[in-house]
Amino acid sequence: MQISKHKVVAIDYTLTGPDGAVLDSSEGREPLAYLHGAGNIIAGLEAELEGKTRGDKLDVTVAPAEGYGERNEALIQQVPRSMFEGVDKIEPGMRFNAMSDAGPRVVVVTAVDDDGITIDGNHPLAGMELHFAVTIMDVRDATEEELEHGHVHGAGGHQH
Ligand code: ZN
Repeated sequence: MQISKHKVVAIDYTLTGPDGAVLDSSEGREPLAYLHGAGNIIAGLEAELEGKTRGDKLDVTVAPAEGYGERNEALIQQVPRSMFEGVDKIEPGMRFNAMSDAGPRVVVVTAVDDDGITIDGNHPLAGMELHFAVTIMDVRDATEEELEHGHVHGAGGHQH
């Protein structure tokens, strides 16, 4: 069975960044299961998996525009300490949920100084060329319910 729109695909993958460091991997976990053609995974990877079949291995390089987007300097802001009311100690690397014009997003603290706190709302993988080493473990038809929900149920997918 070939990968096409609305197939459920299970993949083992290792994601490395531009410097070769491993950023994420399914090793030691269930393969990742996703609904093909539903935008469950980044566009640049999904496009390369089209037409492949169980057992195929591929190496995919994804440019930022087809991955997590370019970095947006406007998402780096300095905010007053008072915005973190109730947090005792704020240190670079801490993550918070923040409300932005575009809805909720995760921001990371990048600097703490007397004038305030610098936060970065970019996705941690924004602006990075990403490399995926993928093995296709399984391809099957989606169930009606999965198509309705727009995601995969069961092993490697949503549990609900
Ligand atoms: Zn569901």
